[in-house]
Amino acid sequence: MKALRLMKWKSEAEIVEVPKPTPGPGQLVIKIGGAGACHLDLDLMKDCGDGQHSSIGWNPPFTLGHENAGWIDSIGAGVSRFREGDPVAVYGAWDCEGGEGGGGGLGLDGGMAEYMLVSFERLLIDLPDGLKPVDAAPLTDAALTPYHAIKKSWVKLTPDAFIVIIGVGGLGHMAVQIAKVTTGATIIAIDSRSEALELASSLGANYTFKVGDEIQSKVKDLTGGYGAEVVLDFVGNEQTVALGASICRALGDFTIVGIAGGVLPFSFFSIPYETSLQTTYWGSRAELAEVLDLAAHHLISPKISKFKLADAPLVYLDLAAGKIEGRAVIVP
Ligand code: NAD
Ligand code: ZN
Repeated sequence: MKALRLMKWKSEAEIVEVPKPTPGPGQLVIKIGGAGACHLDLDLMKDCGDGQHSSIGWNPPFTLGHENAGWIDSIGAGVSRFREGDPVAVYGAWDCEGGEGGGGGLGLDGGMAEYMLVSFERLLIDLPDGLKPVDAAPLTDAALTPYHAIKKSWVKLTPDAFIVIIGVGGLGHMAVQIAKVTTGATIIAIDSRSEALELASSLGANYTFKVGDEIQSKVKDLTGGYGAEVVLDFVGNEQTVALGASICRALGDFTIVGIAGGVLPFSFFSIPYETSLQTTYWGSRAELAEVLDLAAHHLISPKISKFKLADAPLVYLDLAAGKIEGRAVIVP
């Protein structure tokens, strides 16, 4: 079968021929229905392999694709909960469930191939009725990660509160929807691209600001001078972490989800009084089930563009150039 593989650090992923996997005891093989193209994969191609990322503990070669859903293809000895043909989503944070390496698409072979080996059945979640694998795939990361980040701040997202979402790409466009359906807060979306802001408005953002728009004073004006209760940064570069800290209110939450490597000085006076500064990593299995349920009830819906596996290298060029709206999903 063909697979999009990262062969070594600091290189573009390539389509290569690999054998179809067979499941060992406790393992399963999934026929992939969709694999989302995450910005993290660009970081893996460009930035990994030097000192800053030495702690990740896994290395190429491996098949990319850590947002996956499909159908059970074959089952190893001792697997009891699934039958061939069952539609499933793959929970991606294998390391959080006791798995070896980062997970499928992160050190182990992921879903940008016709078939994918899943190490143990706990990593699979049944799809609710009516939810197709191609739509479920991006939910496993592009929706799960913002859901987890927003859920952490639910207590502060009262109807009189403001939430700022910086970066309305794959994760951010789901964050707008999740904030809309799970909180009563007013949503402010920020991006450097007008198309991303139009998408944010269409999904329920109350205000949209483009980078360079005197955002600080506009957010202060909207919030009576206080700043926003919750700021989520889905970019995480020098510019956005500084912006995020400057528009978060005292006692607020500033959560950095994007991994662009921006550094924020942390001291008594560098952020507003009692602001909680945190990063988040993915979400839990239980939260993935909640996210799939929201989608099955049509409360959230990823805006996807579908591409063939052969087009995957071009998809990543488009993602790097800011030409993808919402999430690109590879359908092998
Ligand atoms: P994406 O490329 O789909 O979206 C990024 C968005 O940010 C785009 O709309 C882009 O126009 C906008 N943007 C870029 N620079 C900007 C700036 N300076 N100011 C405002 N907007 C800007 O990316 P994605 O797949 O949604 O991923 C977002 C980030 O989240 C990436 O860094 C990715 O690695 C990270 N990520 C983190 C986790 C986690 O668990 N923490 C999980 C998945 C992805
Ligand atoms: Zn990702």
